[in-house]
Amino acid sequence: MFITLARKYRPQTFEEFVGQSHIVETLKKGIKENKTAYAYLFAGPRGVGKTSMARVFAKALNCEKGPTVSPCNECDICREITAGSCIDVLEIDGASNRGIEEVRNLRENVNLMPSKSRYKIYIIDEVHMLTTEAFNALLKTLEEPPQYVKFIFATTSPEKVLPTILSRCQRFDFRPLSPSEMKRKLKEICEKEMIGIEEKAIDEIVDFSSGSMRDALTILDQLVVYSGNEKITFSMLKELLGLVEEKSIEELLIYLRDGKIKDALELYHDLLKDGKEVSIIVDGIIKKLRNIGIYMIEKEKIDEREREFASKFENLPVEKILDSLTVSLEYKEKIKRESLQVVIVEILLLKLSNILKGEKRYEEVEVKKKEIFEEKEEKEIGMDDVDKNWSKILKKIKERKPTVEACLREGRVERVEDGKIYISFKKKFSFHKSMVERDKNKNIIEKVIYEILGKNFIIIPFIKEESSDGLLKEEIKKIRKFFDIEIMETEEKNGRDF
Ligand SMILES: [Zn+2]
Repeated sequence: MFITLARKYRPQTFEEFVGQSHIVETLKKGIKENKTAYAYLFAGPRGVGKTSMARVFAKALNCEKGPTVSPCNECDICREITAGSCIDVLEIDGASNRGIEEVRNLRENVNLMPSKSRYKIYIIDEVHMLTTEAFNALLKTLEEPPQYVKFIFATTSPEKVLPTILSRCQRFDFRPLSPSEMKRKLKEICEKEMIGIEEKAIDEIVDFSSGSMRDALTILDQLVVYSGNEKITFSMLKELLGLVEEKSIEELLIYLRDGKIKDALELYHDLLKDGKEVSIIVDGIIKKLRNIGIYMIEKEKIDEREREFASKFENLPVEKILDSLTVSLEYKEKIKRESLQVVIVEILLLKLSNILKGEKRYEEVEVKKKEIFEEKEEKEIGMDDVDKNWSKILKKIKERKPTVEACLREGRVERVEDGKIYISFKKKFSFHKSMVERDKNKNIIEKVIYEILGKNFIIIPFIKEESSDGLLKEEIKKIRKFFDIEIMETEEKNGRDF
C-alpha cells in the first residue's frame, strides 16, 4: 500500500514536532503535574501540526500506560487514536455539514462516560467554521463540563472564534516552520526514504510551501511519482509547480528598471497566457528583489548567477530596492483578498517601474502610464455595450469554466453604472446567484468582462423578487409579442393575397 509521506511522517510523539517546542513543553508540564485544562485552542496556519498535536495529546492523556508525556503508541488505545478509530476520541470537521450535525448531538453525547479510556476527547477542526447554532450548542456543553471530557479546538482563523469560546480555552499559537527547520526535516526524510534530490529543489520546496510541512511533503510526494525514481532536479520541480522561468522575471525587472512599462506589461500578459498564475509571478518578483537587496548589503550571501543579475541594479540606491520589495509584499497580500488580480498586478508593475527606473525617464513613464489607463477608462461603456457583448462574454466564460457560464446564464443584466454591472436572478435561481458570487467564479467573470469590454467592472448579482406587477408586464409583453407576430403574419398573408 502506498502511504503518503505526509501521513507516514505525521508526528506520533511530542518529540517529533518541528518548531513548536513552546507548545510541547507547556502541554507536557500540564500532563506531568496533572493540571490539564478542560478546553484547548490550537491556532495557526495550515499544515503546521495542529491536529497531529491534538492526537498526540489525546494519546498522552488516554494511553493505557498513561497519562504520560510519552504515550506508548503500542496499546490498543494509542493505536486506535493513530488510526482515527478510537471511540472515545472524536474528530469533528467544523467545516463540513456532518461536523455541524455532530456538534448538535454533542450535548447528549458528552453525558455518556468514555467507554474504555480515561477521557472523552473531542477534537474539532476548523472550529471557526461552525454555524451560530452549532456554536451555541458547543457553548452550553462548555458551561457545565463533565470531568472526563476534554475539548481540543483547532483553527486557522482564531479571530473568527467567538470570544465566549476563546475565554474558556487555554490557547496555543502554532507558528509556521522556519525555512531552516523545514529544510532539515525534508533532508532527513529524503535520506530515510532514499530519495535523491538536488539541494536547489529542496530550497525551492521550502520556499514554495511557506512554513507548511504538510504542503512540502505533498509536493515531495508528487515529485517522487513525477521523477520515476530518478534524481529529483530543480527543473522537474519547476515544471511540476508551473513556476515562472527565472529569466522571464529577470527580463521583467530589467524592463521596469528601464521604464519600459509597455514591454513589461506585454511580457506579463504573455506569462499569463502561458498559464502562469498571478501569485507565482509576484512571488518570483519578490524573490528576485530580495536577492538584489541582499546583494547590495552582502554580495557573498547569494550565488554567482544571482550575483550577476543583481549587479545590473548596482547603481540604484538600496532604498529603491527595499521600497520595491515592500510594495510587492503588500500587493501579494492584496491579490489574496481582492478580485481583479490581473489588474492589481498591472498596477504593481507600474508602481515598481516608478520606483526602480532612472529619474530621467520619469516623464516618459508618466505619459505611458497615463496612456494605458486612459485608453481603458476613456470610452464610456454603458448598458448597450454590455448587452451587445453579453453573449460573447458568456461564450468566453464557458470556455474557461462551463459551470460558471451555466449559472450566469440564468441571470439578467439589469443596469450598468459606476463601474458596476447589476445582474438579477429570479428567486428560484438563488443557487445560481450564489455560485456566481463565489470569489473564484466572480474573478473569472470579471476578468472576461475586462478582456472583452476593456474596462474593469464589478458584478453585483442580486435576487429580484418577481412582483405580480412585473409578472403581469412580462405576460403582456409575451402576449403582445405573440400577437405582433400574428398580426405581421396576417398582414403578410393579406399582402400576398391582395
Ligand atoms: Zn499507549
